Amino acid sequence: MDALHTLRRLGFRRWYERLLIEAHAWLVTCFLALVLAVALFESHDQTGMLTARIALISSALFSVLGAWAAYRRYFLTLQRAEIFGEKAVCPQCGTYAKLDIESVRENNAGEVIRVDVCCRKCRCQWQMGE
Ligand SMILES: [Zn+2]
Repeated sequence: MDALHTLRRLGFRRWYERLLIEAHAWLVTCFLALVLAVALFESHDQTGMLTARIALISSALFSVLGAWAAYRRYFLTLQRAEIFGEKAVCPQCGTYAKLDIESVRENNAGEVIRVDVCCRKCRCQWQMGE
């Protein structure tokens, strides 16, 4: 219900734009986590205390895991955005993204996975997603 309100309030184009921005924010997060991991590996000192070295190396490995998780999130969000973007063209009149949102289906994580829409120009109805 919340996603339906958000989609109707923003409109499809702005919602789609935000989905793309979210995906690329995850890509930036991935890049920053990799930079942090490299910086931590670089600051590793062979002569330092063992506990400090273990903390540094484990932090670097944790950063690599964070980068991987961020990249995975980037990829999945972008894939989802691509699915909606491809289906935003009216199958009847070919109008792009001028549609009314009829209903929204979310998955357990609260992500929109399917949207029932209606073309503003010719009133054709179709589904986007899944
Ligand atoms: Zn249409």
